[in-house]
Amino acid sequence: MSVVTRFAPSPTGFLHIGGARTALFNYLFARHYGGKYLLRIEDTDQKRSTTEAIEAIHDGLSWLGLDGDEPPVMQSAQQERHQQIAKKMLADGTAYKCFLSEDELSDLRSSCRENGTALRSPWRDRQEHPEEGEYVVRLKMPDSGQTSISDMVQGDVTIENTTLDDLVMLRSDGTPTYMLAVVVDDHDMGITHIIRGDDHLNNAFRQYHIYQAAGWEPPHFGHIPLIHGADGAKLSKRHGALGVDAYRDMGFLPQGVLNYLARLGWSHGDEEIFSLEQAVSWFDGTSIGKSPSRFDMDKLKAVNTHWMRVSSPAELAAQVIEAGKAEAQLAHPKTAQWLENIMHCYTERASTIHDILSQTGWLFITGAPEIPEQLCDIIDADAKARLVLFSQFVSKSDADTPDVLNAEINEWVSQQGLKMKDIGIPLRIVVTGSKSAPSLADIILAVGGEEIQKRIEQICL
Ligand code: GLU
Repeated sequence: MSVVTRFAPSPTGFLHIGGARTALFNYLFARHYGGKYLLRIEDTDQKRSTTEAIEAIHDGLSWLGLDGDEPPVMQSAQQERHQQIAKKMLADGTAYKCFLSEDELSDLRSSCRENGTALRSPWRDRQEHPEEGEYVVRLKMPDSGQTSISDMVQGDVTIENTTLDDLVMLRSDGTPTYMLAVVVDDHDMGITHIIRGDDHLNNAFRQYHIYQAAGWEPPHFGHIPLIHGADGAKLSKRHGALGVDAYRDMGFLPQGVLNYLARLGWSHGDEEIFSLEQAVSWFDGTSIGKSPSRFDMDKLKAVNTHWMRVSSPAELAAQVIEAGKAEAQLAHPKTAQWLENIMHCYTERASTIHDILSQTGWLFITGAPEIPEQLCDIIDADAKARLVLFSQFVSKSDADTPDVLNAEINEWVSQQGLKMKDIGIPLRIVVTGSKSAPSLADIILAVGGEEIQKRIEQICL
């Protein structure tokens, strides 16, 4: 059997981190078995579905590289097909028209609750139907026996059929319910495996009977436990239950987020850091945990730190510039090159793109940076004179490695009867606007002698 999975978000908000993990698991499983991974936008609830949310889902998925293998199926476009299947079930006698009024239904519900029985409408067994009048289409659930699902994650789960209501498949206005739409679409899309949150486990039993009634083979299910916060409580915004876009805006790399999400509820031995390709080769549907995983921001940062270290300086520079633009900073024409040159100074300690951005503002500007007031006193007349001399020396140097340049600077400093800090501190301030930027040689090699001279002259002459 060739595997086909899907991710089926309802576009009522952003693509949250739990949704992204569901998409990832479906992607990994399909790729592992050389199958297909599809996307379906469940936009049947037209009042709650928004185009912004649909865009946010596409944006988030494509940032993570989890776009479907085919153009997405829009559930709302399948409505006629859903209705057609409901009608076929009516004709086959596996569904029935229920003409209960709201009041009758509410009385029936109360008596079912009192008697501890599942909802069965009296219309289920009636042969005669009124010519007119509003009705819903209900599924005839079996009256006895049990339903068992062999879930990839939860194992064998069984319930008594007498707990299953005759659920509504078509509302009185003819629109399909979620239960019917999901089953018809999954069948039509050829879905073989459904991996989703365990909040849908109860639905699986109901959907199973819709498959039976339609005469279709149910797919395999895998219900993954939801993600909790680090404190064990249900994940909320406070814990980091944000949209995927928020993680991009915080400066995480897609590789870092994917690696972290893969480990949320799934494991492969003790492996913590792995690429998407490695995850694909390991993700065979086993080793998915049964208990809720905990979202831990510090761990996400630690994983991301690794991916920052192994990313190419050019790739990081491009992302830092992208993030810088979002913060309305003006990139110098050479910022990309300068960032690349100096990236090695930051990648060891940075957990996010923003960590780098916050320390490299001096590479985005043209000319000297603004000098913070508390550092202005350091740039007194003596310091200015020393820097001007230094700039003349540096502009003549053609050293192209930190070691060679450092040796030259040391020699020059001692020839002038100075100490390293007499140059180091004021130079950093004038070039970067801070005392604590990288080493002198790194700064000079990052932007080049000409720019150093320009910044010094702008402030010191
Ligand atoms: N649209 C549903 C949701 O966003 C998922 C349905 C499913 O996976 O079967 O929760």
